[in-house]
Amino acid sequence: MKVAFKINNLEITADEGDTILQAALKHHIYIPHLCYHPDLKPFGGCRLCIVEIEGRGQTISCKTPVEKGIRVITESSGINKVRRIAAELLIVNHYSECLQCVRNTDCKLQEVATYIGIEEGRLNRLKRTVRDIPIDDSNPFFIRDPNKCVLCGICVRSCEEINGVSAIDFAFRGYETKISVLADKPIKESKCESCGECMVRCPTGALVPKNYQRPAREVKTICPYCGTGCGIYLGVRGNEIVSVRGNPDSPVNKGQLCVKGRFGYHFVNHPDRLTAPLIRSDGILKEVSWDEALELVALRIKEAQNKYGPEVLAGLASAKVTNEENYLFQKLLRSLGTNSVDHCARLCHAATVVALSTVLGSAAMTNTVDGIPGADVILVIGVNPTESEPIIGYRIREAVRGGAKLIVADPRCIPLTEIADIHLQQLPGTDVALVNALAHVIIKEKLYDAEYIKNRTHGFEYLEEFIEKYTPEYASRISGVPARDIISAARLFASGRGAIFYSMGLTQHTSGAENVAALTNLSLLTGNLGVPHGGINPLRGQCNVQGACDMGCLPNVFTGYQPVYGDRFTDTYWRRLKLEEGKQVTPPVEEIDTSEVIADTIEFERPVYRGMSVSEEIRKKFSKTWGVTLSDAPGRTIPEIFHENPKRRPRLIYIMGENPVLTDPDGNHVRKCLEEMDFVVVQDIFLSETAQYADVVLPGACFAEKDGTFINTERRVQRLHKAVSPPGKSKPDWEILTLLANKFNLNWNYNSTEEIWNEIRKLTPHYFGGMSYERLEKRGLQWPCPTEDHPGTPIMHKGKFARGIAEFSTVEYRPLAAEATDKDYPFILTTARKLYQFHTRSMTGRTDGLNQLLGEELMEISPADAEKLGLGANDTVKVTSRRGSIKSKIRITDSVPPGVVCMSFHFAQTPTNTITNPAVCNMSVCSGLKVAAVNIEKV
Ligand code: SF4
Repeated sequence: MKVAFKINNLEITADEGDTILQAALKHHIYIPHLCYHPDLKPFGGCRLCIVEIEGRGQTISCKTPVEKGIRVITESSGINKVRRIAAELLIVNHYSECLQCVRNTDCKLQEVATYIGIEEGRLNRLKRTVRDIPIDDSNPFFIRDPNKCVLCGICVRSCEEINGVSAIDFAFRGYETKISVLADKPIKESKCESCGECMVRCPTGALVPKNYQRPAREVKTICPYCGTGCGIYLGVRGNEIVSVRGNPDSPVNKGQLCVKGRFGYHFVNHPDRLTAPLIRSDGILKEVSWDEALELVALRIKEAQNKYGPEVLAGLASAKVTNEENYLFQKLLRSLGTNSVDHCARLCHAATVVALSTVLGSAAMTNTVDGIPGADVILVIGVNPTESEPIIGYRIREAVRGGAKLIVADPRCIPLTEIADIHLQQLPGTDVALVNALAHVIIKEKLYDAEYIKNRTHGFEYLEEFIEKYTPEYASRISGVPARDIISAARLFASGRGAIFYSMGLTQHTSGAENVAALTNLSLLTGNLGVPHGGINPLRGQCNVQGACDMGCLPNVFTGYQPVYGDRFTDTYWRRLKLEEGKQVTPPVEEIDTSEVIADTIEFERPVYRGMSVSEEIRKKFSKTWGVTLSDAPGRTIPEIFHENPKRRPRLIYIMGENPVLTDPDGNHVRKCLEEMDFVVVQDIFLSETAQYADVVLPGACFAEKDGTFINTERRVQRLHKAVSPPGKSKPDWEILTLLANKFNLNWNYNSTEEIWNEIRKLTPHYFGGMSYERLEKRGLQWPCPTEDHPGTPIMHKGKFARGIAEFSTVEYRPLAAEATDKDYPFILTTARKLYQFHTRSMTGRTDGLNQLLGEELMEISPADAEKLGLGANDTVKVTSRRGSIKSKIRITDSVPPGVVCMSFHFAQTPTNTITNPAVCNMSVCSGLKVAAVNIEKV
């Protein structure tokens, strides 16, 4: 509703609920202010925004809502007198060497002083003792200078309201008041997460970036780190990135950024970047021309394929390159006759793809990041979002501040545990038992949504019967979670609009797909799918891992999950497994109305498939557009590419932007496979640990050096824009792939990424048909978006599931026999991501500040276990699993329970995945990285 009123006799129309200050600023009427910030709740601390309401007297405009008919006066002798005194008191002891201040010309205090007209003589008379408070430069990215602080509290409120950490607050009293962390320590020793949200909002020079350079221009693009897909502006000077700021118009992050997104850009211009193609000669990688390198790659592939057949070749696509590049990568591999194209999603969310596609018909986050704060209850299981997808973590904290209840299910105490209503600390690998018990309580206590179940699901009666044995007491014996907590969590989850967030803590298990299927039961039981603020939301860990899946960088699907072989890949997987295991799938497959299921699968154009299998028709479609014959032979997944049996491995591998030596389980085995392969091609931006095994290295361009699109975790397709040129002779990956394809006479003629994207749209109309580059420019669009007038799909499964009706799953808990602890391996090792590093550190490891915040592996071990082993802080241990040993420093912490230790996989010096478990989930072929039995010895 609109409200009409007057400011200084000007007629103003404001939105109801706006304050007078907000309304004035929207109409470009300046009222001096310092402590107001549009992203934060009004504070009313600086008193500069004082105005008069005719007939009522003076009031502070930042806290006074507009009212119909009021007359506001912003300037009068009385107002100016009060305002002047307030300003003088703020400025009197302030540092005055403005020219040397980073914030000069961009300082709100200067703006206020100029507007009010402060007299230096009066200031000198008012001056008291000169305060000289020590500067805190402990944080690697920003400086805190309390001498320039005006105590507006914007930093305190940013930390509380934006990031939810509350690392800083007002401290001391009266004249001594200052902003400080707990116990007045340097900020680096506090719980500050270095996101810089305080720094970007500070109105003065009290919080400024270190080594600041003002950019000459800015380019809008997308953060290259986690799957949240935050919008950013890259600040460019010459050909160098000098700053990053959040895009305030991004629907994902609304201008906010985490520490990696804001400060982790130094890899772009790093001297370690690859600048020319390399060929191994006499064991040494030597620089060559593009033509020489690509000729050799083409020759070796042709020779091998002529001798051994097309499937001698396999390729790993990348979660870090664009959709257009991933599309071309799988197109090239399939055009060369092999479907052996996979990527790291195999190791993270292949379980999600299989399980959610099977039970819902579509495999991605069902809801939006923006919708999180509206949830009544949030279940976070097997994910640590404040570290792995920080902006999503901030949204969850925001929801809790707004009254949402939070359940965290995690073997570790993660940062969100601090604000959780219930923490279910299950033993690693026992998720199915725990989740089934939650379903048991919901069913037994009739807390489910009977109407929703009746209208939109299938198989409830089978689940009801099956779940009988999963009592809280039974699950408690397996998971270690007290039965009363399971009951409380089930009741809480069923008490309102519930959203579920999960990630690799749930999927990286030999029961990964089963974990996801069991979890989806909870959303279905409570009617939380297809509705705002609910959903089942797998969080993606890399900037374009969703896109790499959507682009068909999986052996069995083309773009948009159109099957290469089989009719519906997920059903094939699911049912095959059940039959292989000798189990009866419940409900029996014959009882499902498959005609409806297939008809409703993501709007496939069913009539054209009559009389022909779905995959046959789809292969025909791709074959015609690509001008090649396509194979229907099943391709290899990553575990099959690095198969135990050398005879079953490919002899040639082409790896684009992946680092399997550090990311894949049983790293020693991966190294051995790479050594034994006839020919290894690595395309990357740095000479990674995997590139050390390459025969040919092709230098690619990073995210800041090319155009294209990424797809974030909430299915939002977003535009990347080139900000700087790639170094040396390096090229965007799509250009490299095009050049290589033409060495095979494939006749690719792409001149831009837009041409590639339009080909993808044409072949994948049910997902991307309506997504022109022009439409994607502003806020991106969420798939499915089949036509130019389609608004995109923020919430999946509204009214109807992608597969028609959803299917409940009956999933048994299976003990992890292969990784059971025993006297030789008495601890369970689980793995996690850390806030300050990303993936294998090829990017974050090139920002010194991030290394200062976390520069080495620190294995987390409980105080009880540390004492038992005689370990003290900073000790080094040898960690041995059934696959090998590594050494690591330790951190003694309560965040892991006794019997469990936790490591990241970020550090090449401590290659954790050397000892993780390569056993796979039978349905998704996702590896069970999250559980490994280990022994620990002091070194
Ligand atoms: Fe980048 Fe993820 Fe941080 Fe956003 S949350 S700034 S996408 S790393």
